[in-house]
Amino acid sequence: MNAALPALPDVRPLTGRSALVTGSTSGIGLGIARALAQAGASVWLNGFGDAAEIETLRSELAAAHGVRVSYDAADGTRPAEIARMIASAGDLDIVVNNAGIQHVAPVEEFPVEKWDAILALNLSSAFHTIRAALPTMKAKRWGRIINIASAHGLVASPFKSAYIAAKHGLVGLTKTVALEAARSGVTCNAICPGYVLTPLVERQIDDQARVHGLPRERVITDILLAKQPTKQFVKIEEVAALALFLCSDAAASITGATLSIDGGWVAE
Ligand code: NAD
Repeated sequence: MNAALPALPDVRPLTGRSALVTGSTSGIGLGIARALAQAGASVWLNGFGDAAEIETLRSELAAAHGVRVSYDAADGTRPAEIARMIASAGDLDIVVNNAGIQHVAPVEEFPVEKWDAILALNLSSAFHTIRAALPTMKAKRWGRIINIASAHGLVASPFKSAYIAAKHGLVGLTKTVALEAARSGVTCNAICPGYVLTPLVERQIDDQARVHGLPRERVITDILLAKQPTKQFVKIEEVAALALFLCSDAAASITGATLSIDGGWVAE
C-alpha cells in the first residue's frame, strides 16, 4: 500500500502573513522570528552580525519551516534606512520592534553619544517602523505591532537612565498607537520581559561588575536575579510564545497592554 496520503490542511496560524522582527540576528528577536516562521509567516530578519553567519541563519530558518525568510541590514538608529527597509519589505502584517542596546553608567557620567544611540534605537526606531507600516495594516484591517519594552519600561533601576527613559517612552508610544488604531483591526502591545540570558545581558553583567565593583557571579545573584522572585532567568522561548499569542486571532482584543513576563519582578 503505497498510496499517497491525502494532504493535511495547513493549520499553521500565520500562513500568508508577513512579519518583520528588528534586531533578530540574536537573542529574543531571533527567538521570535523562529516562532513566527514556525507558525507559517514569512519573515524579514534584521540586525547586525557576521554576513556569512546571518546567511546561514536565514537559509536554515527558511528550510526548517518552509517559509520565505529575508534579511535587511538596516541600521535602526537611521530613520532613512528604516524607511527603505519597510518599503522593500512590502506589505507587512506583523512588526516586532525588538532591536535594542544597553549602556550602564551613572547619569552624570553617561556618555552623550550612548544616550543618543539608545534613544534612537530603543525608542525612535519603533516610531519610524510603525509610521511606515501602519497605513498598510489599517488598509488590510489586520495588523499586529509588538514592542519589546522591558520591566524597565515600568520601573527603574540605577545606572540605566537612557535605557529606562527609552523603554518608558516605548510603553507610551505603544498605548498611543493602540488607541489610534483601535478600530482598524490592528493591535499594538508592549512585552515587558525581566532578565533573559542573551548576549545583551552577558555584556551587561561585565558592565555592572565594573560599576558596582562586584564579581560576575555576585552581579547575577545580587543584582539581576535579585529583581526576579522566581530567581530564574526568563527564557527566550517564553517571550517568543507570548509574541506568537499576540499575533493570534484570540488576542484581537488585547491592545495598548503592557504584558509582563518577568518572574514576578514588577509585582513587588
Ligand atoms: P541581543 O543583544 O541579543 O540582540 C539585539 C539585536 O539588536 C541583535 O540582533 C543586534 O544585531 C540588533 N541591533 C543592535 N543594534 C542595532 C541597530 N543599530 N540596528 C538594527 N539592529 C541592531 O539583545 P536581547 O537581549 O535579545 O534584546 C532584544 C530586546 O529585548 C531589546 O530591545 C532589549 O532591550 C529587550 N529586553 C531584553 C531583556 C534581556 O534581559 N535580555 C530584558 C528586557 C528587554
